[in-house]
Amino acid sequence: MADIIDGKAFAAGLREEVREGVTAFAAKAGRAPGLAVVLVGEDPASAVYVRSKHKACVTAGMESFEHHLPAETSEADLLALIGQLNADPAVDGILVQLPLPKHIDETKVIEAIDPDKDVDGFTTASAGRLATGQDGFVACTPLGCLMLLKDRLGDLSGKSAVIVGRSNIVGKPMAMLLLKESCTVTIAHSRTQDLAHVIGGADIVVAAVGRPEMVKGAWLKPGATVIDVGINRVPAAEEGKTKLVGDVAFDEAMEVAAAVTPVPGGVGPMTIACLLHNTLAAAKRREGIA
Ligand code: NDP
Repeated sequence: MADIIDGKAFAAGLREEVREGVTAFAAKAGRAPGLAVVLVGEDPASAVYVRSKHKACVTAGMESFEHHLPAETSEADLLALIGQLNADPAVDGILVQLPLPKHIDETKVIEAIDPDKDVDGFTTASAGRLATGQDGFVACTPLGCLMLLKDRLGDLSGKSAVIVGRSNIVGKPMAMLLLKESCTVTIAHSRTQDLAHVIGGADIVVAAVGRPEMVKGAWLKPGATVIDVGINRVPAAEEGKTKLVGDVAFDEAMEVAAAVTPVPGGVGPMTIACLLHNTLAAAKRREGIA
């Protein structure tokens, strides 16, 4: 039976570490690190995410600047706000909650964020810095996956890693991070042929697809470490109820792998913890504090 990788516990530890780092930062800089979160419109899921980010910030001792704008906000007004936040010395990190309303060009807005405040790691500059090995911010979800992998496996050098999914926010940065750790990296996607065979050679599998329990236990190499990024809501056994499952058939994977992240309680809690980690790092960099 595989071990369950407890992302919830790891994230709690990371948040505590950040809280201590915030106290030390404030003693030196005379201010707390600040995160600005911009929400446009009334999407209920986005509102929940923004609330939990705000709460996590405050708990960590950071300043949280919330900008909740109406759905009809123009692109120009939103870009003007980003400009103000870029210039504001109290703001170390800027996060624009996606998706934005349809009349706003998401890419244009994200690209307007100063890369030194891009704590979500979504700008082209951040992706380029990661790809070329320069200091920058890494998207929170793949960064969280890497932390869990390093905690579990230590040195990742020479390991064979398969990432299923090639999105800009998870799959691609995950591949870059594992390449930086000297893994031999394969990126699989919807056109990959014989996925079972591709996955079968991997010491590390990261599934970021968005298809419930798609990766089967029988596909895994015995002893593999499995990171399940997927969050899928499916009908539960009890009529009318739903539950969350990942992209990996968890029970099957537990029979074959050495370690597996559960859904929920695996990668999910790491994302906000890494956002706090990135915000503290941004604040330290801006103030020249090691
Ligand atoms: P995207 O939809 O942007 O990307 C999905 C990727 O999966 C694509 O590259 C797609 O390939 C690939 N894919 C789709 N079908 C198959 C298939 N049958 N075989 C192999 N590959 C396939 O998703 P995201 O990267 O944004 O998210 C992935 C999952 O992770 C989702 O469940 C999402 O909810 C979850 N997530 C969780 C987070 C967390 O905090 N834990 C944060 C972000 C995401 P192609 O490019 O060819 O279309």
